[in-house]
Amino acid sequence: AWDETGKIWMDGKFVEWKDANTHVLSHVIHYGSSVFEGIRCYENNGKPAIFKLKQHVKRLFESAKIYKMEIPYSQKDIEEAIKETISINKLKECYIRPVSYRGYGSLGVNPTSSPVNTAISVWGWGSYLGEEALEKGVDVGVSSWRRMAPNTLPSMSKSGANYMNAQLAKLEAIENNYDECIMLDTEGFIGEGSGENIFLIKDDVIYTPSLSSAILKGITRDSIMELITTFDYELREEKLPREMLYLADELFFTGTAAEVSPIRSVDGIQIGNGKRGHITEEIQSKFFSIVEGKTEDTFNWLTYLE
Ligand code: PMP
Repeated sequence: AWDETGKIWMDGKFVEWKDANTHVLSHVIHYGSSVFEGIRCYENNGKPAIFKLKQHVKRLFESAKIYKMEIPYSQKDIEEAIKETISINKLKECYIRPVSYRGYGSLGVNPTSSPVNTAISVWGWGSYLGEEALEKGVDVGVSSWRRMAPNTLPSMSKSGANYMNAQLAKLEAIENNYDECIMLDTEGFIGEGSGENIFLIKDDVIYTPSLSSAILKGITRDSIMELITTFDYELREEKLPREMLYLADELFFTGTAAEVSPIRSVDGIQIGNGKRGHITEEIQSKFFSIVEGKTEDTFNWLTYLE
């Protein structure tokens, strides 16, 4: 939940939650010109531990690079600012939202006369698709909305504007009483959820869509791929036809907010036995035991505070 007594980092200074505002004529409000990150900090043996801090900050800068948006800080500065924001808000476990955006300057489409502002907010955020979802799985539908076509809005940039596409699909999913959607790419291959990547398991092979299917290169996705290298299952990253969703033995979403969330049905078709599959459970439990500090962080995923 949001703690409105908290402090937000804005361009190098901490400001009160209620004062963390921007002008209505800021470029971002009109043209979606922002890039952002979602990062989780886990309580790990009593200490805050940030999941893949460096990789998230790097992706923020890469998202900005595509849009020629110059963030006037180094990646190290932003990493430090994130740590300070968690400390000053005295949180052990939180969601972290850095955002860089074209601010108040002028309102032509040309963004170069608007400053690039950066803010970092933190708050407690539980399981994104609901507490039960992690164990029981979610019901999803394939969206009638496709992911952005290649060379339109770059899906590898985590930009605010991309989430207009995600919102269309999410709204449709909710109207159809699904927990979440799966979007296909413009060719009809499996893409991703509105805020999650997807993995599927069939006949003991683990599959995930390749980057050519207009997906975000999810950092949880990368991490789960690292985890899978220690398993005896083959992992294939490729274009996947829609019907693989229905024929999968197991399906799960990955994402910072959604973590590792099993999917129990797609378009009303039951996946596997309609429960969290055993490979999904194994991946999920290894993931949580590392982030919560119950087993050694052999992949170096965590950055500890203090
Ligand atoms: N796809 C989309 C569209 C997302 O918004 C997210 C969440 N950032 C993901 C995938 C998962 O990415 P990550 O694991 O880096 O959070």
